[in-house]
Amino acid sequence: MDYCGVRRILFSYVLINGILITLQSKEEVLLDMKASGSELGWLTWPSEQGDKRGWEVAQKTLNGSQFYSYSVCNVGEREQDNWLRTTFIQRRPSASRVMVELQFVVRDCNSFDGASLTCKETFNMYTSEADADVGTTFRKGQFKKVTTIAPDEITRKNLQPVNTETRVVDGLSLKGFYLAFQDIGACVAILSVRVYYKTCPATVKSLASFPETVAGSQALSKVDGVCMENAVSEKVPRIYCTMDGEWVVPVSQCQCKPGYEEIKEVCQECQPGYFKAAVPSEKCELCPANTQGTGYGDAACPCTPGFYRAEDDPPTGPCSGLPGAPQDLQATTQLSSGRVLLTWSPPGDTGGRADLTYSVECRRCDGAACQACGEKVRYEPASTGLTETRVSVSQLDAHLNYTFTVNAHNGVSAAASKASPRAHGPPSTAALTTSLQYTDPPTVTSMRLDERKPTSLSLSWVVTPRHRAPPRSFRYELTYRKKDDNLNMTTYTVLVLDRTSVRVSDLAPATTYLFRVQPITEGGAGGASIEDEFKTLADAEAPNYTTAIFWSVVVAAAVFFIVAVVLFVRQRRRNSHSRQGPEDAYFSTSEQLKPLKTYVDPHTYEDPNTAVLKFASEIHPNHITKQKVIGAGEFGEVFRGILRAPGRTEGPVAIKTLKPGYSEKQRQDFLSEASIMGQFSHQNIIRLEGVVTKFKHAMIVTEYMENGALDKYLRDHDGEIPSIQLVGMLRGISGGMKYLSDMSYVHRDLAARNILVNTNLECKVSDFGLSRVLEDDPEGTYTTSGGKIPIRWTAPEAIAYRKFTSASDVWSFGIVMWEVMAFGERPYWDMSNHEVMKAINEAFRLPAPMDCPSAVYQLMLQCWLQERAKRPRFPDIVSLLDKLLRSPDSLKTIADFDPRVSIRLPSTSGSDGSPFRSVSEWLESIKMSQYSENFACAGMVTMEQVLHMRNEDIKNIGVRLPGHLKRIAYSILGLKDQTSTLSVFAM
Ligand code: AMP
Repeated sequence: MDYCGVRRILFSYVLINGILITLQSKEEVLLDMKASGSELGWLTWPSEQGDKRGWEVAQKTLNGSQFYSYSVCNVGEREQDNWLRTTFIQRRPSASRVMVELQFVVRDCNSFDGASLTCKETFNMYTSEADADVGTTFRKGQFKKVTTIAPDEITRKNLQPVNTETRVVDGLSLKGFYLAFQDIGACVAILSVRVYYKTCPATVKSLASFPETVAGSQALSKVDGVCMENAVSEKVPRIYCTMDGEWVVPVSQCQCKPGYEEIKEVCQECQPGYFKAAVPSEKCELCPANTQGTGYGDAACPCTPGFYRAEDDPPTGPCSGLPGAPQDLQATTQLSSGRVLLTWSPPGDTGGRADLTYSVECRRCDGAACQACGEKVRYEPASTGLTETRVSVSQLDAHLNYTFTVNAHNGVSAAASKASPRAHGPPSTAALTTSLQYTDPPTVTSMRLDERKPTSLSLSWVVTPRHRAPPRSFRYELTYRKKDDNLNMTTYTVLVLDRTSVRVSDLAPATTYLFRVQPITEGGAGGASIEDEFKTLADAEAPNYTTAIFWSVVVAAAVFFIVAVVLFVRQRRRNSHSRQGPEDAYFSTSEQLKPLKTYVDPHTYEDPNTAVLKFASEIHPNHITKQKVIGAGEFGEVFRGILRAPGRTEGPVAIKTLKPGYSEKQRQDFLSEASIMGQFSHQNIIRLEGVVTKFKHAMIVTEYMENGALDKYLRDHDGEIPSIQLVGMLRGISGGMKYLSDMSYVHRDLAARNILVNTNLECKVSDFGLSRVLEDDPEGTYTTSGGKIPIRWTAPEAIAYRKFTSASDVWSFGIVMWEVMAFGERPYWDMSNHEVMKAINEAFRLPAPMDCPSAVYQLMLQCWLQERAKRPRFPDIVSLLDKLLRSPDSLKTIADFDPRVSIRLPSTSGSDGSPFRSVSEWLESIKMSQYSENFACAGMVTMEQVLHMRNEDIKNIGVRLPGHLKRIAYSILGLKDQTSTLSVFAM
C-alpha cells in the first residue's frame, strides 16, 4: 500500500466516522551517550600510535553533570580514516528498525589556513550486525555504510551551532549491532548519540485490546487484537501501527455480547428486567410487553405465563395472548341446495395481534347421535385459515341438525398448544354454536301422462324429497308450448298450481306440446323438471265419452283426496314448526331460505308485464326525485335521483327512463331489463330497487353507483390504482359472473363499459336488457350470421355460430381483465373488427398490459383458449383470484411486457408515418396531451430535446403519476429504438 493510499484511508475514515484514532507513540532507548554519565568505552581505530591521533574522548561538566564527547580534527593531513565504534547494542527481536539521533558540531574548513585541500566537513555512519558482542575485535570490512552525515550549520569563528540529525537503520535481524563513525579528515565533535526504536503502545480500542507493537519498517503494520471480556467480533479486531508508532484505522470492532452493554469501555451485564438480544444493539432495553426478565445479563426476556411468541415473531418483541371467542356467530341458509352461510364478528380480544384466522368445525346430529361432518361437506373458501369472518358450507344433508363451531386463532395459537397442550388460561378456541334444520330444495324428477284427449292432456309429477310431504307453501309453475313453434314466435303458457297434477285443456288435436314444471317455494324456484313432450289425440282417436267421464270423476276424486291429505299433513307440520326452538324459527324465514334459482327468461311469459310484476316491485313516481342526468341509454336518459318510498331507507338511486314516443315493443324491451335484474340478488350484480310501469313514463330504478362505468373510471385513474386493488375489482366482477352462471344466465355483453363502480370501488355487473346486444351497445356489430355482436369482447364460437354460453362469458371476462389491468385501454386498440377476428383465428392474443402480474395474465390467456371446454369456469376464476389476493407476493412477478406492443406506443413516428412534428403532436399520440404545458414550460420544445430526457427529468417537469411516467418514458425509449419493429403478440 503506498503512502498516498494510506493517507487516503485515514482521510476517509475521518470523514465517515468523524474520528481518527492516533495514539501517542513511545520510544524505547537502546543507547544514550549523554545519559550514561561515565566513560563510554567506545572503540577507536586506529588506536593511538605516536602523534597520529584519531577520535578522542573529552569530558565536560555542564550544570554539575558530567558528559562525554568524541572529537577528531586532523584537517591538515591526508588520507584520514579514523573510526569510532560504539559498544554492542542489543536489539529487541521485533525492533528491526531503529533510529539514530546524532548531535554534533563540524568546523568550517575555511577556518584552517592552508588545509582547505584536505579538509572535509562531513563524516560517515556505518553499522555492523552480530549475534554477540565481539569485544575489541574490529574489522572495517564488516561494516556497512548507512549514510554520510553533513551538518546543516558549520562552526564559524566562535559560534558553535549544534546539529541534530536522525537516521534510520532498517532491516536489522541479528541479536545486536554496532554503530561506527568514520572520519575522513573533518574537524568534528560528536556530542550525543541516541539509539532508539518506536512502539505503538498497548491499547484498548472499541472493546478490543491490542499489544504494544514495535513500529515496523512498513508504512502501516497490521496488528490483530483480542476482544475484551464479554465482547465479541465477527472478524478479528484489527488496527494499524504506523512507522511513527501511531495507531490508526481500527477495523472490525468488538461489541458487547448479548446480555451485556458497554459502559465506560467495559461490557457490563444488563440489569434485571432489561435485555440485550443482539450483538450490534447498543444498550440494554426494558423487557417488552408480556415478558419478564430472569436476572442479570438477559439476552432475551421469556414470555410471562399465558403469553407466547409465534415462530416468526422476533425473540425481542412482545409476547401475545390467545384470542377470545368469535362473536355473533350466525348461520344463514343461503340457498336451497344444502348451503349455509356462517358469519361472525372478530373476538373482542385479539390477543394483541393482527394475524387472526378462523377455522370452522361442523358436527351433525341425527337424534342424539352426533359426529363430525366428515369430508363430504364443502367449505368455501376453506374450513381453516380463514381471514374473513364468513364461510359458506355446502353439500349438507337434509333433515339433520348441524352444529358449527368457529374457532379464532392467532399467530401464537400453534405455539401455545405446543408449549402446553393442556394449558390453562384463556381458551385457544372459543365458539358459539348454532343448529340448522336443513331442507333439500324440492325438485321435480319425473312427469307422467295420465290421460290424453284431442284438446287436453292430464299430467302429474313426482317431487323429491319424497319422504316428506312438500311444505304447505309449495306451488308449481307449469310452462308449456307447442313443440314445432317457430323459435322466434314461441308462445309460452304458464300455469301456477298448488298440486302435483293438472289437466291442461284448450289444446290443439294431434299436436305435440313441451311441458316443464318448476316447484316454487317461499324462497324462490326449486329445480325444474326436464322438458317432457306429450301429444294430444287426433279427433278420431278420442275414446268413448262415457268411459272418459267415469275416469275423470275417479281422477278428480283421487286428486281431491290427495290434496286433502297434503293439506292436513301440512297443517300438522305448521303447528309443530311453531313449537320449535328459537334457532329453528330463525332459519325458516323466507329471506334466509332463499334457494339457488335458475334464471327465468321473461320471454317465456306470454305477457311480459306479468314477468315484470313477478320480479320487480312497483314504485310510485311521487317517491322518486330526479336530480341530474348521468348518462344516456338506448331507451332514454339515465338520472341520478333520490328514492323516498315508505318502508325503505331513503337513498340515492339511478333512474333509467323510457323516452317519449316509444312503441309497445320498445316498452317491453325496456322493462325486460328489470325482469331480468329483479331475479338477481348478489353483491356484484347491480340491484334493482323497483320499476314504474303503471304510469305513462316507465322507469327502472337501481342502486346508484357513484363512480359510474368501469372503463371510464379506469381511464380517469390511469396508473393510480395498485395491482392488488385491480385484482380485487376483478374478483368482485368474477363473483357476480359466477352467480349469473350458477343461475344459468349468459350475459353476452360483459365488458368494462357494462360494469359499474361505487365509492368503495366495488364493481357490479349491469346491463341486462334483452335487446342490449342487438341495439343498446355501441360496440355491437352485425356479423355474417346476422346478429349484432361486440366483436372484441366475444368468444370466437359465439361470433361464428352464435354459441353463447357461460364459457363465452368467460372469454369476455378475460377481455375485461385486460381492460382493467390496462386502465381502460381499448382492447386491440385501433385494429378493425375484421383484423381482430382474423388475428384471433390465427391464434394471436392480446399481450400483457404494462405492470400486469404474470399470474393475472396467465388467467387471461386461459380465458381465451379456443376450445371453450378448456377455459376455466367462473368458480375456478373466483378461487384463483381469491388465492392471489390472499398472497399478494404472488402478484410481484410481472408478465413480460413490450411497450411498443402492449401500450401501442408509436415507435418512430406520428400516425401518418412521418416523424412527429412537435412535442404536442407526440404527446397527443400517446394520449398524454395534458402534459403539453409542462413540457413547454420546461423548455422541452423539440423532439430532439425530448429524446435526451431521463426519467428524472420527466418527473421534474411535473409528471408524477407512475402510469403516466412510464408511458412517457417507454415512448421515448421506443422513439430512440428506431429499428424495433412492431412484434406480434402470439400466445
Ligand atoms: P346503460 O344504459 O345501463 O348503459 O347506462 C348508461 C350510462 O348511465 C352508464 O354508462 C353509466 O354511466 C350511467 N349509469 C347507468 N346506471 C347507473 C347506476 N346504477 N349508477 C350510476 N350510473 C349509472
